[in-house]
Amino acid sequence: MTTESGPSYQSLAELVAAMQGLTDDPLHATGSKMVIYRGNPAAKLMIVGEAPGSQEDKQGKPFVGPSGKLLDQILESVNLTSEQDVFITNAVFRLPPGVDDRAVRKPTTAEINFYKPYLLEIIRLIDPKIILLTGAVSMQSVLNETKLGITKMRGQWFQVDDRWVMPIFHPAYLLRNPDKSPGSPKALMWQDIKEVRRKYDELGLDSGK
Ligand code: URA
Repeated sequence: MTTESGPSYQSLAELVAAMQGLTDDPLHATGSKMVIYRGNPAAKLMIVGEAPGSQEDKQGKPFVGPSGKLLDQILESVNLTSEQDVFITNAVFRLPPGVDDRAVRKPTTAEINFYKPYLLEIIRLIDPKIILLTGAVSMQSVLNETKLGITKMRGQWFQVDDRWVMPIFHPAYLLRNPDKSPGSPKALMWQDIKEVRRKYDELGLDSGK
C-alpha cells in the first residue's frame, strides 16, 4: 500500500492544495471540484468510498448524500461519529460522468489508477490503524483486488503494513437492498460493523476520547 511511489507531501493541507490545483486529471471536465475528505484528520479509522456523486460534487465533501446518511447511521449504531472518530475519503476524487440523470457510472481502471497515488498519500499522512473499503472500487485501489467481488471479500481483515483493512458493502448497495433478514446484505453489514467496533476497542483506539 505505501510501497508504491507517488507524490509526497509534508501535510494534508499541502496535499489538498496540490489536488485542488490539478488540471490534467481524467475527470476534470465532469467534476466541478475536487471532493477530498470530511471527518477528523486525527481519526484512527478511515473509510474509503468510490467516487463523489452529484450531492458531493455540489458540497465538495464525500458521502453527504443518501449513501452518506446511511453510512453515518451505521457508524452511530456502534457509537462512532463521522465528525470525531472517522476520516472519510474516496478512491476517485471527482464526479464521474452520468449514465443517466440519476446515476453516475463506475470509475474506470484508468481513473482509479490516476487518483490512487493521491489516495495512498492521504493514507500515509493520516496514518489510520483501521481502513474500511466500501465496495469494489476502493478494494481495487487499495488492495489491488479486481477478481474477487465484494460479497467474497467483505467482513475479512487484511493486514497491510501496520493497518487493518476490511472491505464492506457500499451503503448505496444497502439502499438498493433494504431487506434485513438473516444473510441479507444489511444483516451482514451489521455483523461487519460490530467486528470493526470490536477491533477498534481491541486496538485501544478510543483512548483519545
Ligand atoms: N458514494 C461514494 O462512494 N462516495 C461518495 O462520496 C458518495 C457516494
